[in-house]
Parts: sequence; structure tokens; C-alpha cells
Amino acid sequence: MSRGIALSILLMTLATSHALAQGAKAAMRQDPACQSLTPVSAGGPAPKSQDTVVVRWLGWTNYEVAYRGTVFLLDAYYDRGPRMHPIGVVPADMKKANAIFIGHAHFDHMSDAAAVAKQTGARVIGASFASEVLAKGGAPANQFKAVKGGEVMQYPGVTVEAVLGHHNVIATTVPEGFLDKQAAAVETASLQKPLSDAEKQQLDAIRARGSRDPKIATDGVINYLFTFGNGFHVLFADSPGPITDAQRAIAQKVPSVDVAMLPYFSFEAGIPPLVELVKTFKPSTVFLGHHDAEGTMKWASNYPPALAIRDASPKTRTMDVIYRTPVCFNTASKEMVIGW
Ligand SMILES: [Zn+2]
Repeated sequence: MSRGIALSILLMTLATSHALAQGAKAAMRQDPACQSLTPVSAGGPAPKSQDTVVVRWLGWTNYEVAYRGTVFLLDAYYDRGPRMHPIGVVPADMKKANAIFIGHAHFDHMSDAAAVAKQTGARVIGASFASEVLAKGGAPANQFKAVKGGEVMQYPGVTVEAVLGHHNVIATTVPEGFLDKQAAAVETASLQKPLSDAEKQQLDAIRARGSRDPKIATDGVINYLFTFGNGFHVLFADSPGPITDAQRAIAQKVPSVDVAMLPYFSFEAGIPPLVELVKTFKPSTVFLGHHDAEGTMKWASNYPPALAIRDASPKTRTMDVIYRTPVCFNTASKEMVIGW
């Protein structure tokens, strides 16, 4: 092939992929799913294009991921109790979901899973520790699929792989009693009034909808790797534990993911384990969760972890979106449009 022909083919290819990319962005901007604050699970519009994935952060480590006709909920802790910022949807609003993926069975990751499973008929996927909580909440046993890591699940156009992670051990990385002192100091510095007895009861009821099995730390934290279309990878992890062999194996198989939802909490003590997850999975885009507690003192800023993430992985951008904002990705061109 002459150099001239090769060059013109290259230019044509570049022009075509540029046009495709422009088209994808424009299409996403015009798609109601990328402009609505209503989650698809709560009756909002599903994406029009076969190539669009819509990601919404629903507070803490809750996410909704909508793709073609399928709605995935990642964790289910919507009614978070007194003083927490309302996410704008309550469990009773969630009417459509195909599957609920539970990262681990602590209450702040699954307290509303049984209610939403009953309403939607969605299958719940998680480590076995979730099964008792779901049964107590009245979810039919045949809606639960227990996983240990290594399982592969298929949905139309999507493959989901369960990966064994580890619960966070942040308390062991700081002086003994530090986290309690930090919590007390933040409490003192905030304008939040002490909880009333009725509010405490409300909180106790939410806390009861989770498991306290100590084995969750080593055997009960499941990450999920979603592969959309021909290879758009989304990783969900809801506790920043030490990196496991299974996580390393996945990272070898998929050297970088397109999107990762990762947990950030305990202020500066939470940054090193978060950065380890970023270095392992090398995401292009990171959503942070688990940092939005009551008031303003307890909602940790995304900026310090975002800077640490950029220093450790210069090609990773950290999203700072608020509840329900639709963030659309084209699985082919990998472009992103932030709605609203
Ligand atoms: Zn936990």
C-alpha cells in the first residue's frame, strides 16, 4: 500500500471515529434518560440507544445502572434514617429492577433490599450472609442468589462477574480508638442536635436490617465487574479492604476498567485504601460514595481523595455528582455526558 493511500485511510478512519463520537455525545445529550433526575427504577426514562449506560449515584454506595431494558441496583440503603440527606427517592418508589447486587450484608448496604425485591421481583445477588436478612424482610427465598466470588451471570448484552473482596480494616491503620475520637470530634463540631428517642428507634430498626456476622470481613464482601456490549467495564466495590487475590486476578484479566464505583469514608484515613483500589483497577472514571453522612461536617469532601487519586493514577478522573444526576456513557466510543 502506498504511503498516500495509507495516510488517507488513516485520516478517513479518524474522521469516522470522530463523527461517531460526536454523534454519540449528541445522541446522549438528546436522550431523556440522560436528562432526567428520576431513576429508571422509579419510573424515569430508560436509555434510547443500545449503546448507552446510565449511571446514577443514589447516596452512600447505592447506584442505579440502566442499560437497554435492564435496570441494576447496586446496594440498597435508601431510607437512611434521621438527619441523613434525602436522596429524593424512597424504597416505595422503586418499581422496576431486574437485579439488586449487594456488596456486603451490613445494614448500610442492604437495609432496603428485601422491600425493593418484593416490590420489583428483582433477583438479589450477594454473599450468603444476606439471606437471613432478606428472609426476615419477607423476600421470597427463590429470589436470592448466593455468591462467593467467581460466579458469572448473564443479562441481555451484559456479563456480570462476582469477585471476592475484603471488608475495610481502616480502624487497624490508625491509633487505637482514633475513629471513635474522630467521630466524636466531628459530632461536636456539627450543628446536628442529638437524636430524640423516636429517631433512635427509627435508626435501630434500620440497623436491624443487616447482618453483623464477623465472617463478612473475609468471606462476605463481593465486588461486581459488569461488562457491557463489546467491552465496557464497570466495577462496583462497596468496602475498601486490603486487595485480595481475586481482585488482583480480575485486574490482570481486565487491565483497566472504564468506570468504578468506590467507597470513601473516615476522612484522611480512608484515602490510602481507596487509592489502592484505584491503582488495582485503573478506572478512567471514578464515582465516590459512602462519604455523605448528615449535615455538612460529616459529608466528607471529594476533593482530597480526588487529588490523591489523580496523583496515583493521572488518567483517572473523579466524578463529583449529586444524588440522581444521570451520567451517561457510550459503551462503544466510551464518551461521557453528565445530564442536569
Ligand atoms: Zn461494612
